[in-house]
Amino acid sequence: MKILLQFPEGLKQKALEHARKLESDGNEVFISASPTYGACDLAIDEAKRIGAEKIVHFGHAEFHHIDFNVEYVDYKIDAPLSILERSLPVLESFRKIGLVTTIQHIHQLDEIRKFYEKNGKEIVIGKPYGFAKKNGQILGCDIGSAASIDRSVDAHVYFGGGIFHPLGALLNTSKPFLVIDPFHGNIEFIDHYRESYRKKSNGRIAASVGARRFGIIVSTKNGQYNLNLAKILKNKIEASGLEAAILVSNNIDFDSLNNMREFDAFVNTACPRIAIDDTERLRKPLLSANELMKALEFMHEGRERVAERE
Ligand code: SF4
Repeated sequence: MKILLQFPEGLKQKALEHARKLESDGNEVFISASPTYGACDLAIDEAKRIGAEKIVHFGHAEFHHIDFNVEYVDYKIDAPLSILERSLPVLESFRKIGLVTTIQHIHQLDEIRKFYEKNGKEIVIGKPYGFAKKNGQILGCDIGSAASIDRSVDAHVYFGGGIFHPLGALLNTSKPFLVIDPFHGNIEFIDHYRESYRKKSNGRIAASVGARRFGIIVSTKNGQYNLNLAKILKNKIEASGLEAAILVSNNIDFDSLNNMREFDAFVNTACPRIAIDDTERLRKPLLSANELMKALEFMHEGRERVAERE
């Protein structure tokens, strides 16, 4: 069988090893060298171009159904759990705790739950909204496992490395949020990010009030493609007497966007994290759909005030 292998950046170093194994089983194997951000980003065009009958996608679980033969290969990491002991004093004043992690550690969630229950905590594990598939699992774009239980817990605990995943969950919850990073040995509340991200968001909205031309970004990646939303936003912008164009790209390239100087602001319809994590890579404001609606509302109110004065 003709197979295209796809690896996220951290696993690309093992690509040849996996290719050799599949070749020894009689397959013709190719390796995608493109960046891969998630199962939202399958190399379907590359696979079709080389006539591959199947993609083997490593490191991410299925995101949504695709009309192509895709095999997902989990990448489990057994992180050391000894760090949990040190989190107990930090969590002393919280009894009911929501627990979330990434797909790499989801198999450890039960052991983590048992540890806290043995130490007098009540553990709540939420359900994802749909892109993530396992209870307690979060993705940058599916924080349902935390948000769905926010009302019923005293605090949230994220177990895993890095800040990317917990940040999305933090911004969609209201309770104290503890990150336990077993790789760096860090245990810290990250609640302060809520205020700093809220201020940045307000700053972007304020900076785009007065914009005349908007570029609406659409990604052609399988799990990020949202042309319908882009068209709705374009209509809303134009109904406000402003100009908009839909900008289509597979990979969002910030240098190219910066070269599009006619636009006063950009609106993201691709991976929702772009309008959170990458805004500083653009010289013009980069808004989410919600932020755009607020900016249009402010512009509308501003015009009404001017009209009243006249
Ligand atoms: S957060 Fe973005 S890159 Fe990650 S799975 Fe979701 S859409 Fe894809």
